[in-house]
Amino acid sequence: MPTYEYECRKCNKKFTVVQSITAHGTTKVACPKCKSAQVQQRISLFTTKTTRKS
Ligand SMILES: [Zn+2]
Repeated sequence: MPTYEYECRKCNKKFTVVQSITAHGTTKVACPKCKSAQVQQRISLFTTKTTRKS
């Protein structure tokens, strides 16, 4: 299942939600910290992993 990154507009808490594609868009996402529904999805097309193995 795909994961979606969200950011709370109230407390700026960043969290990840695992949702199916059908559930995404229909399910209300609430902040796990302050329970606010004032969350916005973060569009992260690129996951930058800076792991240096040298
Ligand atoms: Zn919050």
